[in-house]
Order: sequence, then C-alpha cells, then structure tokens
Amino acid sequence: MLSPLFRAHGLFVASHPWEVIIATVTLTICMMSMNMFTGNDQICGWDLDCPKSEEEVLSSDIIILTITRCIAIFYIYFQFQSLRQLGSKYILGIAGLFTIFSSFVFSTVVIHFFDKELTGLNEALPFFLLLIDLSKACTLAKFALSSNSQEEVRENIASGMAVLGPAFTLDALVECLVIGVGTMSGVRQLEIMCGFGCMSVLANYFVFMTFFPACVSLVLELSRESQEGHPIWQLSNFSRVMEEEDNKPNPVTQRVKVIMSLGLVIVHAHSRWTSKTLSTNTTETDPMIPMDLDQVSARRIEPVVPLWHFYLSRMITMDLEQVICLFLALLLAVKYIFFEQAETESVLSLKSPISLAPRTQNLQHMETCCIREPPEPRSQISAPACREERGEKNSDEVIRPFPALTTDCQQKSLFTIGEEEEEIKSEVTEPSFPQKPRELDECVSIFKNPELGPHHLSDAEVMLLVASKHIPAYKLEVMMERPERGVSIRRQMISAKLPSPTALSSLPYTDYDYSKVLGTCCENVIGYVPVPVGVAGPLHLDGKQFQVPLATTEGCLVASTNRGCRAIALGGGAFSRVLADSMTRGPVVRLPSACRAAEVKAWLESTDGFQDVKDAFDNTSRFARLQKLLVGLAGRNLYIRFHSRTGDAMGMNMISKGTEQALHRLQQHFPELQVIAVSGNYCTDKKPAAINWIEGRGKSAVCEATIPAKVVQEVLKTTTEALIQVNIQKNLVGSAMAGSIGGFNAHSANLVAAIYIACGQDPAQSVGSSNCITLMEPSGPTGEDLYITCTMPSIELGTVGGGTNLPPQQACLQMLGVQGACQTCPGENARQLARIVCATVLAGELSLMSALAAGQLVKSHMIHNRSKVDLQGIQPVCSRKPSA
Ligand code: NAP
Repeated sequence: MLSPLFRAHGLFVASHPWEVIIATVTLTICMMSMNMFTGNDQICGWDLDCPKSEEEVLSSDIIILTITRCIAIFYIYFQFQSLRQLGSKYILGIAGLFTIFSSFVFSTVVIHFFDKELTGLNEALPFFLLLIDLSKACTLAKFALSSNSQEEVRENIASGMAVLGPAFTLDALVECLVIGVGTMSGVRQLEIMCGFGCMSVLANYFVFMTFFPACVSLVLELSRESQEGHPIWQLSNFSRVMEEEDNKPNPVTQRVKVIMSLGLVIVHAHSRWTSKTLSTNTTETDPMIPMDLDQVSARRIEPVVPLWHFYLSRMITMDLEQVICLFLALLLAVKYIFFEQAETESVLSLKSPISLAPRTQNLQHMETCCIREPPEPRSQISAPACREERGEKNSDEVIRPFPALTTDCQQKSLFTIGEEEEEIKSEVTEPSFPQKPRELDECVSIFKNPELGPHHLSDAEVMLLVASKHIPAYKLEVMMERPERGVSIRRQMISAKLPSPTALSSLPYTDYDYSKVLGTCCENVIGYVPVPVGVAGPLHLDGKQFQVPLATTEGCLVASTNRGCRAIALGGGAFSRVLADSMTRGPVVRLPSACRAAEVKAWLESTDGFQDVKDAFDNTSRFARLQKLLVGLAGRNLYIRFHSRTGDAMGMNMISKGTEQALHRLQQHFPELQVIAVSGNYCTDKKPAAINWIEGRGKSAVCEATIPAKVVQEVLKTTTEALIQVNIQKNLVGSAMAGSIGGFNAHSANLVAAIYIACGQDPAQSVGSSNCITLMEPSGPTGEDLYITCTMPSIELGTVGGGTNLPPQQACLQMLGVQGACQTCPGENARQLARIVCATVLAGELSLMSALAAGQLVKSHMIHNRSKVDLQGIQPVCSRKPSA
C-alpha cells in the first residue's frame, strides 16, 4: 500500500543525491554544534569526564563490557566487509561510517532536546553499534548495482525503496517499541541505554532513507563516468535476483510485526500514563520523564578543562579495556584497508557471472589478428574441469546416474591453453557440496538467494532444478554462473539418454567463449566440433596475395587447391570483378482473384508503387537498400522477389526484416492482400534453383586467369588441349546430360564449403553459392596457353553477423583482411571475400581438372584421402556394452 510513496521518495533521493547529501551533512553539523558548543548539557566522554558512579564497578562488569565492545567492533567490521563485496572498498564504507556517525550525533542531540541525562553512554555505545544494520544498506545497494545506466540506477533505487522501505519502517517501529520496553524496567542504567537505543534506531532509519541511497546513486554516477558508461562493479545478476520473491518481505512476518507493534503501543501508552500519574506522587526521578529546570541545572555537568587537554589526558590514562578495544579496532582497520583487496576481488568474480572480461576479449579480437585467445578470467573456468584436473574426486560423481565426462578435461582446447591458465585453474576454490543432493526446496532457495546462487549447488542439484522445471533446460547457460557450466550440465543430462554414455567424451566443450554463441549462433549447446583448417596460397588475385583458410576433412582438397594457386601465380595472377551485389527474399502473398493479383503486380512495378515499398523497406536498416522487385504470378498468388544491398552482412535476417515492413505497407494499399509466408521459396535460399543461377543472388562474381603452356605441363602435369577437352565433355556436356542447374563445374562446392566453414558463413548456403560455370579456352600466340574463367552468380556471404562473430572464424576472416564491417565503404569487405571465393574456386578447378585430364585423381586420393585406420578393428557402438 505504501510502496508507491516509498518509490517516489527513493526516486527523489536518487535523482537529487547532492542535495540530499549536503542537507544531511549540514543537519548533522548543526546538531553537533548545538550539542557541543552551546555550553548546555554535555555528553560524558565527549569533552567531560562523567562523575564516577557511586556504586563500585565490579571487575566482572568490566570484562562483560569489554567483550561486548569487541563483539560490536567485529560486527561493524563484518558489516563493512559485506558492503565491500559489492565492489566498493572505501566509498560505500565511508558512507556506512558516516551513517553510523550521523546516527550517533542525531541520537545524542535528540536525547539532549528531551533533556535527558547521558551519563552511562560509554556502556550504551557497544549496544548502539550492534543496532546498526548495514545489511539493509547492502540490500539497497544491490538494487542499484543491478543497473546498466544512470536512469536505471534511479529507477532501481526507487524500486528498492518501494520493496524495502515499508519493511524498514516496520522494523524500525518494532525495534523502537521492543527496546522501549526497557525504559520501563526501573533499572536506571538500562533505562538510559534503552532510551538511547530507541533514538539510535530512529536515527538509523532516517539516515538510511536519505543519506545512504543518495550516496549510492552518486557513487554509481561518478564511477560510470570514469568507466566509459559501464560501472566497474556491474552485477547484472542481481537485477534478476531482486525480482525474486526472496527479497520481498514475508507478508506473514509483516503481519506479526504490525500486530506486535500495536500491542506494544498499548503497553507503552498504559505504562506512560501510569508513570505520569505516579510521578505526581513521588520525588524519585525517572530518567525518561522530563525534569523541571532546577533539577536540570542541578544535574548539569560543566566543562572544567579545554577540549584538547581533555582528550590528551584521556589518551594517556586509558583503561586496559579501552586499550584492548582500540587495538582491536586498529588491527581490523589495517586488515580491511591493506590486506583484503585480492580476497574481495576473487569473491566478486565468482559471484558475478557477467564479468567485463568478454567485452575486453572482444575488443582485443578486433585489434589483433590470429592471436591466441587471452586467458579466461577465473570466473570463466570450468569448476568440474578444475576438480578433475587436480585429480580431486568430484563430489557429484557419487550421485551421477552416469559416468562423469572426465576425458573432456584432458582434451587440449583449440583456443587455449597456456601453463598460466592451468595454474589459475588449480587456484580456484570451490564450495563443497553434500554427497547427496539436498531437498528441492533447499536447492530452490539457494538458487534464488543472491548471496549464493547456482555456484553453491552441485551439478546434480542443478539437474534436479531442471527436472522440476525451476530452470528451463534451454536456459542452462544463461542461468548458471558460467555458460560453460550450463553446457557441461546439459552434456551430463544428455549422456544418460544416449546409446553410449561416453559418446560425448570426445566432443570438446571447455575453453570456448559461449557468450558469442548464445542468442546468435546455436541453442542447447553441448560443445563444439573442431574441424581441421588448412591453408592454400598465396593466391595472387588482383595484384594482392591471400592465404586462404580452408576447413575440411577431405584430404587432397587443400593440397590440390594449393597447386592451383601456384599455377595461377606463375601465370601472372588471377583477376576478378563483382558483377552484382544483391541479396533476395521472396515472400508469397495471395489476392482474392488472379485479376486483383495482376493489379497488385502492376502497382509494384510502377515507379510510385516501388518507391512506397522501398521507403518502408529501407527504414529498417542502415545498410539494407531495396534495389528492385521481381514479381512472379501464379493464379492469384504473387511471388515478390525483393533485391537489396546488405552492406557487409550476408543479409538474410536484415532483408527479412525489411521485407516484413514492406509487406505491411503493401497491405495498407491492398487490405485484401494476405501474406502466406515471408519466404515463398522465390528467394531462393539454401535450395538449388534456376532463379539464383539466372538472376543472381548475393554477390555475382567472375574471375579469370591465363596459365602458360609451360606451367600447365610442369605444375599441372597435363596439356591445355586435354584440359579443354575434359572441361567440355565433363563440365558442360556432362552437366547438361545430368540436367544440372548452375553445376557446370568440377567441384566449386568443395571450396565454397571449406571457406564458409572456416570463415563463419552459413554452410547451408553453399548450395546456391556453389553455382558456377567453368570455361576453358586456348590462349596465347600459339594457342597452347590456357585461358580459364569461373563465373559464380550467387555467392551468399558476409563479414558481419551470424558465425562471423565467433573468434576462430574471425581469425580466418582476418587472415584475408576482410573481418568485420568495412568502415570506409560498407559492403566492400563482403565483396572482397566473394572475389576470393571465386578465385579459390578457379584454383580448385584448375587443379582437379588437371588431375582428371592426367588420370591422376584416383591415385592421389589413394595417397592423400584414404583412411589409414583399420576400420574393421574398431568395435561398433552397438556391440559395446555401456559402462556402468
Ligand atoms: P545480422 O547479424 O542478422 O544483421 C547484421 C547486423 O549487423 C545488422 O544489425 C546491421 O545493422 C549490422 N551491421 C553493422 N555494420 C554493418 C555493415 N557494414 N554491413 C551490414 N550490416 C552491418 O546478419 P544477417 O547477415 O542479416 O543474417 C545472418 C544470419 O542469418 C546468419 O546467422 C544466418 O545463418 C542467418 N540466416 C537467416 C535466414 C532467415 O531466413 N532469417 C536465412 C538464412 C540464414 P542494421 O541493424 O542497421 O541493419
């Protein structure tokens, strides 16, 4: 009910931090000056010695007092530690310290206003410290720290206040009333302490509601400015956690507190009324009842020595218990300031699944080419992997229903691993788990607890949460503290369902940056398949040289292409051109009649109609620009082929988005138009189709080279005449006989697929991208040289988006100097890659056709491509017994 009020208050405080801080500090200073310099009542221990108690102070009391003080010091120390785990070594700590200080001043001043005697404050101080609960500050700070921008900080502080404010208020009220009971005890010292305690709780509440949120807001704003808009301690997981019920006050407890408060109010009202009546009949002084002025002046303590003199003498004549407390406080302060940096950092990194490391890695990748991945931060290291590598027994193994995938960890990753990383791995400390999974409820509460989270659950317990649908299986990577652990757990779950429980043991999954995969490239990830990458080159193309990465498992392919590259280089290099650059998407729409469909077709082909659709299409991207529409009609169906430039992206997502908007615009003109599918196979994507061959799709490129007769003989081991003959009979007549569309080549798909896999292209698009006609003619004065061309009308590729964002694939693109977006001329990187693909296909055609012409194909495959493994010797999976 009160939440909106607290939310508005929180928003105000977070939006005006400076004003709130200055106001609070000013108020504190005013109170201090009123308190200390007015010459009125003074607090014992500030600048005046208290009159010694008439009663003898027992040594047992001193011991109890000393222990209480030490506990209070430790308590404050741990409170500071938990604040610091949020990422601030000093600022939040100083805010906390100020909170304590201002609470203290506030309390003393309030008591002063009520004209109470403060003798005995020394004893009350430890209790006062124990009343201060910095965990509230932690909780509020966590809300703020889950923000990504300053607006979010304000919003989150407001939300934090809305959730925590009513609970804080009720807590303060209950604490006051409960402690207030002590003021009716009749024991004078206890009454003083309880009175002081009540004031402290109120002061605490006041400062937490104003000064602290303002400080947090300000600190985050300042840190953000110095961190290029990103907070140093961004703990995004907290935002998720804060949404969980756990952080909302329990309604039952709240109700109990309200009822309890009402009861206590009645008790207080009754007792105050009674004591007031009694006070008229008695001369005995009640410390909580105002005294008349004569009494006050009689009890007033006047300063007798200057302030500096007072403190100096107090320092010199310190009692033993004071020395102990001071020593302890100093010791802990030194430990906190100088020796806890590393410890806190490691705690932080383990708690925060979203570290800044991937961002840094990403930047490094943009800047460096083909450099080994930097070591993963500690938080990225696989915990089960570490345990197993250290030879420790994994506690989960006992309860796993299938064997642990121990061999995975022994595999060397493609992207790592240096010795330093091995060392780091061995340093990571893991929480120990019970041998048996804990109860579901307990696991759920650990999982939802922001202080614990999935890191404190064993793999088996996480699987329990997946089975009970508390964690969706497809979200494992996102919900674990590290994506890699999510992958590992999914593997364990899948392994149990496979014919061979060890089937995945050779599929690696460690040391991979899954942050680049999630939400972009793959779902339900269980690892990655390493494919050998060879290099062919140098490929001399358009006056430049390229080393071409080819990912393949077909022996001979790289070697053969390499030979083709050598022949091209010796012939003076290849030359290429991009003829067209236009990706397509062809939706199917339906009209009520064929005549109406014809009218829509005519409108789309008109200048106005095209322009209208183009406006809608172009609005969806900075790079997509509609070039033309090709409209086909079949009965009352219309097939509209949208042709668009897509910059450096292959562009299928981009153009689909544009097409959708264009169809909406079309529907505004023709409301009866029904969109059957945004892809009507008129595109045509990932299927053989004549339209791509004839109209082109993606990049249309052509490449040519002249190979001198000598090179044909010495490098390719054949003759120009033989090559031309094979080309005619095989690539032209043979393909015609087979009814091929776009397959007038020897093996362009081999090169297209190998480059696509290496460079992060969509491998399924090798279907259309392999369309190629290879032509050979005699050349030169004697006609003995070879003139060869490859024409490829539909090369569908890009250098941004999709798999091109993955680091290994980026490395291959960087080998070719085309990684990412071309800054000067968007689309140029993608077009350059298309030329390279076309030229590599030409090199491959040259070499394979030569092998065929020379009758070497079978021989070379027997040497380079035949399996050397005794396949008969390998036991088939079905005959193996699953291991227990
Ligand atoms: P994308 O990653 O979806 O889009 C490219 C993004 O890069 C856009 O946000 C674009 O900005 C941005 N960009 C920045 N600089 C650019 C530049 N210089 N040139 C072009 N874009 C630039 O990539 P996509 O190529 O459109 O789609 C590729 C993915 O689609 C692949 O994963 C592929 O497997 C998949 N695919 C999808 C379909 C389908 O039917 N949707 C079909 C086949 C394949 P803007 O936001 O300003 O455009």
